[in-house]
Amino acid sequence: MAEPINANGPFLVFDNKPATAPARQLPPWNILVVDDDDQVHAVTRLVLRHIQFRDRPFRLISASSAREALQIIETQPDLALALVDVVMETKTAGLDLVRHIRDNLKNRSIRLIMRTGQPGHAPEQNVVIDYEIDAYMAKTDISAQKLVTAIIASLRAYEFITEIQSLNAELEARVAMRTEELEKLAMLDPLTGAGNRRHLEQRAAAEIASCQRTQESLCVIMFDLDHFKHINDTYGHPVGDIVLRQVVKTAKDLLRPSDFLARIGGEEFIILLPSANEQGSCAIAERIRAAIAALEIKTDQGIVTVTASFGVVLMQDDFDLNASIARADAALYLSKQNGRNQVKLAEQLAPV
Ligand SMILES: [Mg+2]
Repeated sequence: MAEPINANGPFLVFDNKPATAPARQLPPWNILVVDDDDQVHAVTRLVLRHIQFRDRPFRLISASSAREALQIIETQPDLALALVDVVMETKTAGLDLVRHIRDNLKNRSIRLIMRTGQPGHAPEQNVVIDYEIDAYMAKTDISAQKLVTAIIASLRAYEFITEIQSLNAELEARVAMRTEELEKLAMLDPLTGAGNRRHLEQRAAAEIASCQRTQESLCVIMFDLDHFKHINDTYGHPVGDIVLRQVVKTAKDLLRPSDFLARIGGEEFIILLPSANEQGSCAIAERIRAAIAALEIKTDQGIVTVTASFGVVLMQDDFDLNASIARADAALYLSKQNGRNQVKLAEQLAPV
């Protein structure tokens, strides 16, 4: 090989920014040198030994065959650049390696510079384009300065590509988070923060599936504020809204984290109680009833009080949400007829 690389060229630092932090604090640029000629490794080290880019030193990793290079690439994910010889264990070992990196490993970020001692074996132009080869150089024609310039240009490209990749990843994460937020919002009653009807249906389907699998029972409580229209008519809707929010907060505070509360009408609510029996559910309904009746809701029109009527039902074998709501509604109607502000269990209804 006739004077492959001129190691006596000027040492260049390709960074206009003043060095503010000591270089060793920043991680090095990992550069893989693949060549079956020991002398090429030695000269490359010599040329790059004092070079930095963006205050980061170079860390050279040597491979003497395409096969060895492949093992390194597969285990070292943050290689910025590979300087690849063309002719090694085979005449096309270097080209096969870059094809493998792009096509099989799907590594689009590592920059690739090809160096050949046999310039007659230049790859076709489409190979250079398709495999994103940054430079193709004849070893006889590489001065230290040319090599360093090509390496710095490649590192700039690598920096740009990885920055774009991380921005994309960040953007995708933000879009995913926002989508989740919107989906959540679409499931909530904006006034009270309780679930809406759609959320109830989804949640019920999940709870029913779970209860059928575990043979656990599932109870439904339905409740309705007594004379709510009167509150709206007397004090106005803003006060009615305050009452609804207070009622939801009061009920939620008495529920287990696994229970679920939804607002399905103006002043109508459904509670799902997984793994609860009728007695337990009636006890919870009774506690919520008492807590609502004890509320003294402060509004700019004075203290407002409210009561609610409850119907409780154990989901039957068919586990049908709408049928269960209809039965809970019938029990609730009985509570209303019986004087309101009370809890009735659906099983107390006379058989139809
Ligand atoms: Mg070779």
